[in-house]
Amino acid sequence: MSVSTGESVFDWIDTRAGARAKAGLTRTVRPRAAHSTDLDLASNDYLGLTRDKRVTGAAAAAALRWGAGSTGSRLVTGSTELHTELEYELANFCGAQSALVFSSGYAANLGALMALSGPGTAIVADQHIHASLIDGTRLSKADVVVAGHCEVPRITHALATRGKRRALVVTDSVFSVDGDLAPLADLVATCREHEAALVVDDAHGLGVLGDGGRGAVHAAGLAKAPDVVTTVTLSKSLGAQGGAVLGPSRVIRHLIDTARTFIFDTGLAPASAAAALAALKVLREEPGLPERALTVAQDLAFRLRENGLPASTPSAAVVSVRAPSAESALEWSRACRAQGVLVGCFRPPSVPDQVSRLRLTARADLTEADVERAVRVITETGASAGAVSRPR
Ligand code: PMP
Repeated sequence: MSVSTGESVFDWIDTRAGARAKAGLTRTVRPRAAHSTDLDLASNDYLGLTRDKRVTGAAAAAALRWGAGSTGSRLVTGSTELHTELEYELANFCGAQSALVFSSGYAANLGALMALSGPGTAIVADQHIHASLIDGTRLSKADVVVAGHCEVPRITHALATRGKRRALVVTDSVFSVDGDLAPLADLVATCREHEAALVVDDAHGLGVLGDGGRGAVHAAGLAKAPDVVTTVTLSKSLGAQGGAVLGPSRVIRHLIDTARTFIFDTGLAPASAAAALAALKVLREEPGLPERALTVAQDLAFRLRENGLPASTPSAAVVSVRAPSAESALEWSRACRAQGVLVGCFRPPSVPDQVSRLRLTARADLTEADVERAVRVITETGASAGAVSRPR
């Protein structure tokens, strides 16, 4: 005998899909071509290393030697000498005491936050942190306070009023949507005053900011700090795939024993570890690459603003341009694509403030002609999307 409980799961998801379609918030998975003439301002390949022969060659050689997958958890059969070498090199390059490699930046953030906090911990988080950090705070079962965006006084207040609980402040170094920077020096000062640890996601800082691309945490002089834990991804500037946590050796030892996404996840594929290692080598050999990505971003944003578009002032390789609505952002990004320029389109719920925007990423390998073409197409299509505030 069946018992009716009203709406089924499938009815519920259909209702939600209908509402998303009505609001223009349906998402599309669109496979890209292996070789295309499109101008890519949508990927996170900031240094153009994902197709660099030194990187792809290292990945191919590692796959042939070690196999296509890592075969198991890092604690069982999933660690190779490439993983150990990558951990050594990452720590060395970024100036940290130790590093631990995960299968993605997402897994690194979940693993770090779950291992460093729990019931009885107060987490004070910036409002614009990445979804993977948000999920980590939720899974940790800690008490979470979201203290505005870069609002150090609110963070300080939350720390000062937390009672006897252990505390963790969580932030991105470069916020992924707008590319703005966290006030790391002020954050670490308030953390120290209130005996809290600081967790910084440097996904968009590594390879772009700091001396030779050593990241925002290194630039802030915090790479060896005993109370700062950094997470990174290998899938943006390093052109590979994977993630890592960098920090004091006792933290890394703790993660090996307790981080669930380290223990229960299959280790990073050897080819990805080799690719990231090769990319780090390129960064050492070509320390001017990060600055080039930054210069391209600033040039791009400056020219868009000159054309009357509300582009951000970039501090890293991310440029955001606000759109009047979610629908116009989508229409705008589609019009750019139709003209061969790929841009990111960020709409609710992927934006912390419900403001839709185009997200453009600069790359070190973009030419002057590429930037000119991008600015022309984005401006022309922006006019029809209603985003240009004044005529050229
Ligand atoms: N943190 C930030 C700030 C990110 O932008 C991303 C990727 N979008 C991640 C973490 C997740 O990294 P990964 O893609 O390697 O899982």
